[in-house]
Amino acid sequence: MLYIIATPIGNLEDISLRALRILGEVDFILCEDTRVTKNLLNHYKINTKLLSYHQHSKDQKVDSLLGLLRDGKILALVSDAGTPGISDPGGKLVQRVLEDQTLSSSNEQEDARYKIESIPGPSALTAALSISGLPTDKFIFMGFPPHKKGRLTFIKKVLDTEYPVVVYESKYRIIKFLEEINEYQNQLIKKFETEINSKGAKRPKDLTSIVVCRELTKMHETTYRGEIKNIINKIKQDPNAQRGEFVVVIGK
Ligand code: SAM
Repeated sequence: MLYIIATPIGNLEDISLRALRILGEVDFILCEDTRVTKNLLNHYKINTKLLSYHQHSKDQKVDSLLGLLRDGKILALVSDAGTPGISDPGGKLVQRVLEDQTLSSSNEQEDARYKIESIPGPSALTAALSISGLPTDKFIFMGFPPHKKGRLTFIKKVLDTEYPVVVYESKYRIIKFLEEINEYQNQLIKKFETEINSKGAKRPKDLTSIVVCRELTKMHETTYRGEIKNIINKIKQDPNAQRGEFVVVIGK
């Protein structure tokens, strides 16, 4: 059995009773950074043994984790924050377990079948959407923008979709990202206004429905809403506003 368990994105109280019970019952907890997970477990006086599993984990490591499952051990996977697999390495492990299961079942080893269950809870993605005030019955999640290669293509896609787009961005690049989408949208507007438009195309919209959530559920939680230019200025003016973790929702 492999449980995929969501953990808090800041506030340690944001964890379900079921998650706490299972974290206390499993044989091992696989986690990204043992210090981060230890902090959570200490808070709830849970003593389960931790094993590290992160984006740089080698195949050998994954094989040894699969071996534990084959031996009938019950494992839980958590990430540093939120729901494993949402822009972190959790999804890869689930894939590997499923692949291993396919191989084993072709050998007709019925007892090699694993169960994967989700223990749902927080994610920065849903937390940001839930307070965005934007229509969220349809949205697109694009995760982190690439740092270099493919960045412009990413930005074009963000601006091109008809639904709100959610992006994760780090404190080091938050201003850069906001400035880039603003600049690219302005180029589109300028192009529209200077070129003769015989096909009746619509003028690209100004970016007026942007929501930037910083440090969700934490002491310095801040949400900026509205015009992108104003948000950029506010974040630029305040060095404290450039700290922490960010989710950006680009409304259409
Ligand atoms: N699996 C996580 C989830 O479900 O949200 C996301 C993991 S991803 C490696 C980490 C990114 O999520 C951060 O860089 C930030 O963009 C976003 N994030 C996580 N916690 C956050 C918080 N408390 N406030 C704002 N953004 C957060």
